[in-house]
Amino acid sequence: MVGHFAMMIILLLMIALIAACYKIYKMKTLFNSYRLGIDISEIKRAKEIIENSEKRYKNILSVMPEGVILYGADHKKIALNENAYKMFNLDSETFYEKLNILEPNFPFVDTKGNPLALEDYPVAITLKTGESITGRVIGIISTGKTRWISLNTKLLEPCDSTEVPQVLVTMTDITKQKETEIKLRESNALLRTIIDSIPIGIIVINTDRKIVAVNRPCLELFRINEPRQNLIGQPAAKYYHPSYKYSEEEREKVKVILTNNMPVVDEVEMSNDRLIQRSYFPFYMDEELKGHLWVFEDITERKAMETGIIRAKEDAVKANKAKSAFLANMSHELRTPLNAILGFSQLLELQETLTEKQRTFVKEILKGGRHLLNLINEVLDLSRIESGKLKLSFENINIASVIDECINLVRPTADIKGITLTKERNECENDFVYADQMRLRQILLNLLDNGIKYNRENGEIIISCESKDDLLTIHVRDTGIGIPPEAQTEIFEPFYRLENPFVEGTGIGLPLVKQLTILMGGKLGVESQLGVGSDFWVSIPLVQTHETNHPVSLEKNEMLLPKNKEYNILYIEDRLWNQQVVAEILDNIKGMKLLTASSGSEGIRAAENQKTDLILLDLQLPDMNGVEVFERLKSNPQSTDIPVIALSANAMQEDIDRTLAKGFKDYITKPFDVLTFIKVIIKYLR
Ligand code: ADP
Repeated sequence: MVGHFAMMIILLLMIALIAACYKIYKMKTLFNSYRLGIDISEIKRAKEIIENSEKRYKNILSVMPEGVILYGADHKKIALNENAYKMFNLDSETFYEKLNILEPNFPFVDTKGNPLALEDYPVAITLKTGESITGRVIGIISTGKTRWISLNTKLLEPCDSTEVPQVLVTMTDITKQKETEIKLRESNALLRTIIDSIPIGIIVINTDRKIVAVNRPCLELFRINEPRQNLIGQPAAKYYHPSYKYSEEEREKVKVILTNNMPVVDEVEMSNDRLIQRSYFPFYMDEELKGHLWVFEDITERKAMETGIIRAKEDAVKANKAKSAFLANMSHELRTPLNAILGFSQLLELQETLTEKQRTFVKEILKGGRHLLNLINEVLDLSRIESGKLKLSFENINIASVIDECINLVRPTADIKGITLTKERNECENDFVYADQMRLRQILLNLLDNGIKYNRENGEIIISCESKDDLLTIHVRDTGIGIPPEAQTEIFEPFYRLENPFVEGTGIGLPLVKQLTILMGGKLGVESQLGVGSDFWVSIPLVQTHETNHPVSLEKNEMLLPKNKEYNILYIEDRLWNQQVVAEILDNIKGMKLLTASSGSEGIRAAENQKTDLILLDLQLPDMNGVEVFERLKSNPQSTDIPVIALSANAMQEDIDRTLAKGFKDYITKPFDVLTFIKVIIKYLR
């Protein structure tokens, strides 16, 4: 472009020069003619032609974006257009007054910003050598700013001996272009600094597998001590392959990656035992493969940490399993004697011959035993929830009946403290919730128990319920000691208890209530005022339909078996007191005869030789475990059709499920509720 304009200007100036020479020649001729007395009208016409032609050049020069100067060997200069002074940031007057571009005080700089030596001034060079200069970039410093120009020179020989040589200078302002270039260079430098400062090795190779770019961390990673520029253009394999542990294997692998041109992330071991994560990305431009980008990250420490975390997690899982096993065992160990305690005391309670004092003792034994059982169950439940093993069985439940049931259950305890239990009339009398009935009862009983425990003598508990949107909320309000605001969140954390020497407790109830509520898709909260009372509320999803699965309750007639029929029940159990509990229970039902066996083998023999209608099988026997006994019973044609019910102190749900899956008819956990026990037995005898 610059060259093109320059050519044009040169052409114009050549014409001007020829015209000027012609003008001089004409003038001389005219002068001669004049001297010779020739008509001057021709002179006039020639003058007009020259003036018109000059006007035309001026017009052309004024619209050109370049600045054009004629600079003579005598330092006289002519600015051929206005752009000429603008290039120097001067007006025409100052331009002629001050500018002497061959004087050292005029601030010209080279592309690096260094002052230009006088002999390197393009005009000086052209005047000296006669050679034209094209596209030379120099900076002109004016009012603190650098204006960048691209400059061309051309020597114009004088027309005659009266003239000095002149240099035609054309200048194009390229400041904007130069600034963009500088910015680009700066941003490239910044990018390079950033790429060098990240602790990740990066190398770019072209399609000939030669290095195009590499960052400093990459050199460190591959322990390359050569200057970076030495690597550019070299085959990449020469540098990084030797650092890999299995060089040949790696060479093959890399070859495959480079042939497939698909992004790959893998891990490689270095010969110095460091572990590197290697990522490969093909580098495309306009869908054409231009090269390959490799990224290397030293992950030795991270990997070690990950392995540590995985191991710690495995240990934690193991520890958790051990805890669950411990809880299951403990619960088993505690439940077994409790079976005798609760079983016998329930039977004692039924005796009419007991004195008042004895009855009180029995009640205390039962209370203590039930409390203990409750505690074991809660600890076990909490640990099951924690390990995600607690299974709920959802059904549609009429909330009013559950509330009534719970109020009735706690009423005796409330009465002792003179606490009134009031159920507020409410609109959710006919509402149904979708929940686990047993667990919902557990939640309400817990809240009611606390309401009684932490109430004052002759206090009050008000149970109310409201339904809003899709939730049903039950409130249990008491007139008790209240809870300070700062403890109102913490009471839901396991084992948290407020200092209270008068009330016994474990701090498990509320956390369990909270977890159970969450499992049922509900929410739980409390509003409380110290010394005034607390309002515990629980919200659970409401069922829009009033259809319900009626809960099964043991009716009197369910206990009746066909008259005049005798049933032989074989109980295989090594512990004598457990045998006695069951014997006493069955003694109350007409037509039931209990046969006992104290070991697995004895039980198998008994079932084979006697008419047996039902087998109650303890799962832990001295000679073999219950499941083995069960399998032997089933494989024997004499006993294969006899229904078998498992009896065990093991209440872990997964063990129950596993046992039932073997083919047991039912599973009763010890200590058992007498009525439930009878109900299950009758179910399989009919
Ligand atoms: P526990 O009653 O066995 O201590 P909970 O988990 O049921 O365990 O309750 C945790 C604590 O919350 C209790 O120790 C008691 O300080 C406080 N708390 C629970 N319910 C009430 C209530 N209705 N009124 C006052 N304080 C209560």
